[in-house]
Amino acid sequence: MSEAVEAKETIDITALAEKLLEDPVLLRILEIMVNRREIKPIIHLEKGIEYPELKNFPEWSEKIEKLIDLKFIEREIVDRVIECPKCGSIHVGTRYKCPSCNSINMVRTSIIQHITCGYVDTEIRFKRVFEKGKEMLVCPNCGIRLRELDVDYRILGEIFECLDCGRRADRPKIEFICRNCNTTFDILTANYKPVYMFKITDKGTELITSGDLVRKLMFVALRKAGFETETNVELKGISGVNHRFDIVIKSNGTPIISIDYRPSSGDETQVTDLLAHIAKYMDFPGIQYVYVSNKISENVIRVASSQGINLVHGGSIEEIINNVLNVVRNIASKIRSKKS
Ligand SMILES: [Zn+2]
Ligand SMILES: [Zn+2]
Ligand SMILES: [Zn+2]
Repeated sequence: MSEAVEAKETIDITALAEKLLEDPVLLRILEIMVNRREIKPIIHLEKGIEYPELKNFPEWSEKIEKLIDLKFIEREIVDRVIECPKCGSIHVGTRYKCPSCNSINMVRTSIIQHITCGYVDTEIRFKRVFEKGKEMLVCPNCGIRLRELDVDYRILGEIFECLDCGRRADRPKIEFICRNCNTTFDILTANYKPVYMFKITDKGTELITSGDLVRKLMFVALRKAGFETETNVELKGISGVNHRFDIVIKSNGTPIISIDYRPSSGDETQVTDLLAHIAKYMDFPGIQYVYVSNKISENVIRVASSQGINLVHGGSIEEIINNVLNVVRNIASKIRSKKS
C-alpha cells in the first residue's frame, strides 16, 4: 500500500517537473511564493488590485490558479470591494439619495429640541448667525439664539433629510457611480468582489525546501538535453561501500558524472555537508562530481576547488538548472575530447 502511494508521488513530481520546465513563469511564481510565504494585495482605486511581487508577470492570475489547483498555494479573503457591474472597475463613488425624489442632496442632520419653547426640528432648518465670530443657531419658532447644549437646547438624535423635497429617513438610499464608465448602480446590482491574499501551503514549501523538485527538474532537464540520466542511484565505490547519488550521468552504460543537490543551509553546515560528500566523491576516481546548491559560501568554494569538485549554484531554480546543464555539457565534452 505505502509503496503504491510512494510510486504515485514520484510520478506526480516528474510530471510536474516536465510542466514547470515548459512553463518558466509558473516555476518562477512558485519560487516567489515559497520565498515570500504569502503575497498580499494593495488596493488602488484607479489601478485596481495589485500584487507588487507578481506585477512583472502579466499572466500571473492564470498561473496562481494552476498553483492553487496543484494545492501548492491557497487563497484567503482579506477584503471586499464594490466593483462596477459594467466595466469591472473598482474606482467607484458612493452617493446618498432621497428615497422619494432621488436627489443626491440627502444629508445627515441632528434633531434639535429648543427647550426654551419646546420646538423640535432638524438642525438644517435652524437659521445660522455669527456672534463674536462664532456660529450660532436661531430657533425658527421663537427667534431666540440657542446658547448651550443640554441647557437651553438638546440633540434628540440623527436623521437624514432631503434638501430638495424635505423627506426624512433613518437611512438614505445608497447609489454607486463608476468613475471609469459613469454607470450608476445600487447594492442589488453591484459586484461585491472578494480580494484575496495568497499563501504557500506546507505541500508547496516541502516541495522546494526538501530539494525534491529541484532534483527532479535537473533530472528531466538533463534527460531532455540528451544525456543518459538516472536518478536516485546507488553505486559501489572502490572501497566496496555503496553510495547514493541524486543523479548519475552515464556514457554507454558507464557512470561519468554524479550530481547531488543540497538546499542551502548556513555557511558552517554547508562546509560540513560538503566534507561528508567528499568522502563519497573520493570513492569514485573515474567519476566527476557536481555539488549543487542555491547559495555557495566562500569556504565551500575554497574546499571544493582544493578537492576538484565542481560547484553549481544559482539565484533562482531556473538559473540553477541552466547552470547544471552548462557544467554537465562542459564536463561531458572534455571527457569526449580526452577519449579521442
Ligand atoms: Zn464602470
Ligand atoms: Zn427628496
Ligand atoms: Zn424656540
